[in-house]
Parts: sequence; structure tokens; C-alpha cells
Amino acid sequence: MKFSEAYDLANVVWSYFFEWNMPEEFGALLNVRCEDLALRLVKPHKDSALHLFLRRFYTMNYIWEFERSRDDMLNLIIQEYEAVLQYNTIPYRRSELPLEQDVNYERLAKRRISYLRKKLPVDRIAQDTFQLLFRDRAFLLRFNDRLSQSVRSLASLRTSGLVTRNGTLRRARLPAWLRRGIFYRDNGRCVSCGSDLTGLMFNGPAVHYDHIVPLAAFGSNDPTNFQLLCSRCNLRKSTHPRTWERYPVFWGATPSKRAS
Ligand SMILES: [Zn+2]
Repeated sequence: MKFSEAYDLANVVWSYFFEWNMPEEFGALLNVRCEDLALRLVKPHKDSALHLFLRRFYTMNYIWEFERSRDDMLNLIIQEYEAVLQYNTIPYRRSELPLEQDVNYERLAKRRISYLRKKLPVDRIAQDTFQLLFRDRAFLLRFNDRLSQSVRSLASLRTSGLVTRNGTLRRARLPAWLRRGIFYRDNGRCVSCGSDLTGLMFNGPAVHYDHIVPLAAFGSNDPTNFQLLCSRCNLRKSTHPRTWERYPVFWGATPSKRAS
């Protein structure tokens, strides 16, 4: 894993959801009216909505930059693309950068940009970034909350059989790979009270795979919308979207005066 790129993208995506207010662009990045995505929101798919979002965001972010940029920025974009390819040791055809005083500068630069863009390792960067963001349930809550606003618009597609009479998505059976993934991410503990749900040492409360944004609140069955709860906490959880920021630590270190 080339962490630094994944952290960069995770950071920008995090800001997109928590700091920027660009609701209209979310619809352009993830169009739930696209049949393929709508189906995935009902039946959990390994290539989740977040994977899809990250791939589009990574590509679009460059395109937005590209469209916004003035001509004198084109060389900077080329240099940035080349840096990504070099970092990932992806071979590409080297050529001289077009010079701003060239008569055909803009045409040459744009051609070079589109050549380099096709080589960017988008799938890998999105997959690595997913590994980081999937662990952050506060982020997943925000992502799925945003997604639920789009799911509301599916109500008009009742005939497709994907939605109930209320316009919410149908409940899905969780495949084993997803149950194992959520169990592993949440360390076999209830994310609310911390109860051990592994069943290894004692017979505790039952394991519930809870929708972070409930289906009743237009949540989906996307893999990113699940968390581990014990049966007791699940009964207490209302139909409001909710998660808890409980993450296990390896150990808590207190800086010692003598060591410093
Ligand atoms: Zn609990």
C-alpha cells in the first residue's frame, strides 16, 4: 500500500463531506438512479458505493481542477500526473513539456494530460483509500447519511421492486464475506457498549449487524452502512442514524520524563 496517496485522497474526501458544501456534485459523482448502483444499494456488493465514489472523486477532482485552471496551470497538472506515475512506478512515454510560448501550447498540453490521465492507477488508489475510510465510522455515518438523501429519490421507481411501499430500500440478507468484514473491522465488539461478541470465552449477547443509517431513514445495504451491535444496544438504538466513536487502541502510552 502506498499510504501517502491514500491518506491524501482520504483527507480531501473527508473535507468534502465535513467541510465543503457541494451537494449538487454528489449527485454527479454517485447517481443512484443509475440502475447498476441502485441494485448495489439493495444487494451488498464487494465493490461498494464508497469504492465507486472514490474512483469518480479521484478522477473528477483532477478534471474539475483541469477545467478551472488557467492555461498557465496546465504544466503544473502535467507535472502532478507525472509525479503520481513515477511514485507508482508506472511507465509512461516521456516527452518534453509543452512550453507556454508554443503556438499550440494549449492543444499539446491537453493532449498530454489526457494521455497521462488514462495511466493513473485509479482503482488501486481508491482501494487503498477505502481501507482507511472504512475504519472511520463517523465518516461512514456522514457518507451514508448523504447517500440516504439520494435514496429518497428512488421512491418514484417503485415498479423496480427495489423499494418498499414507503419508498425505503428492501432488507437484504448479509453475505458471509460482509459479516466477516464488519466483525473483523469492529474487532468482534459491540461498537456502543464494547461487549465481547466473539463468543470465544463466554456466551454473551447475540451479534446484530446494524444499519448505521437505518433502512427506515432511507439507508442502504451498502457494505459501508453496517456496524456491529449487541442485541441489547440494537434494541435501544432508535431509528435515527447513529454510530459511536469507540475504537480499540493497541495500548495507551504516557510519555515518560526519563526517556525524553
Ligand atoms: Zn452493546
